[in-house]
Amino acid sequence: MADSSALDALVDQALEGSRRAISRLMSVVENGGPEARVALARLYPHTGRAHRIGVTGSPGAGKSTLVTELAKVYRGQGKRVGIVSVDPTSPFSGGALLGDRVRMRDLALDSAVFIRSMATRGSLGGLARATADVVDVLDGAGFDPVLIETVGAGQSEVDIARTADTTIVIELPSAGDEIQAFKAGILEIADVLVVNKADLPGADNAMAALRAMLDLGQAQTVRHHGESVTIAGVSAEAGSEQDWATPLLKTSALRGEGIAELARAVEEHYHYLAESGRRQQYHRARVEEQLRRILRQELLGRLLVRLPEAELAAAVDRVATRQEDPYSAAETLIARVS
Ligand code: GDP
Repeated sequence: MADSSALDALVDQALEGSRRAISRLMSVVENGGPEARVALARLYPHTGRAHRIGVTGSPGAGKSTLVTELAKVYRGQGKRVGIVSVDPTSPFSGGALLGDRVRMRDLALDSAVFIRSMATRGSLGGLARATADVVDVLDGAGFDPVLIETVGAGQSEVDIARTADTTIVIELPSAGDEIQAFKAGILEIADVLVVNKADLPGADNAMAALRAMLDLGQAQTVRHHGESVTIAGVSAEAGSEQDWATPLLKTSALRGEGIAELARAVEEHYHYLAESGRRQQYHRARVEEQLRRILRQELLGRLLVRLPEAELAAAVDRVATRQEDPYSAAETLIARVS
């Protein structure tokens, strides 16, 4: 399907809501390359409407259970819900992960719900890119909100969370203060913080430990009052009235408890983003980052192809035999192509 009219037709069908077309379009954008570019160019004007909600936490924290319960709340409000389930540790893609998730399978039978599983695509950077593109497909096809469930550690969660307008971070009950070992970087991306499995012992422990961490974070912000601080790559004035205080909530996804409150907190965050102008600001920051990444890739690629292989080989010889240092050799080659 290399010709662009077939791709245009596929995008149009997806925009009209054809599930088969949505599924195929997702595969096209996931695979990247020239076809993905043509498709995304056609899709792009139709995106930017959905509330993108990231749900992140360690394996077994209850992400899929919670996402399923949240999706039910949104379905109850008559919304069409997209779910993207990202597992950087799994080689499976396109739905295989859902096999053992009975609750989500029930949801998948609902034609107003679209669920897609994503898995490792070579690099985490590639996965974050593919996830953002798949979310765009759902957004364009009119699914709102889109829930993005991610498992993984550290940077991959942070990168994928950047795709979201609102990020929910899930923690678990704990016996002691081991929660403090939880990566600070992950807490920083939380717009809403949740202790799930509140039906188990230790939920209040975890709440207290997280409360203390949140208060500490806010105290530090106050100390920086008047200076510019960076939140998710966006410069903001510390201590301004618009600053969002991360709510801390308790849920039992298994029993369906605390889910309505969670949905409300997520909604409030969305209003906050819109009213404070942060949504536009964050969006611009994401676009800038994306554009810079594409430019780096493209410029590098285009310059490198202009470099004659023979000259590169000659430079390697000179450096390998210590006639020249690598930096000078690189300068010579750069001068050759620029
Ligand atoms: P994920 O790996 O983060 O997506 O976690 P899952 O949603 O697959 O849940 C992992 C396990 O925890 C499953 O057996 C769930 O039934 C269970 N679970 C999820 N939420 C709760 C909860 O609120 N309370 C209890 N007790 N178990 C839960």
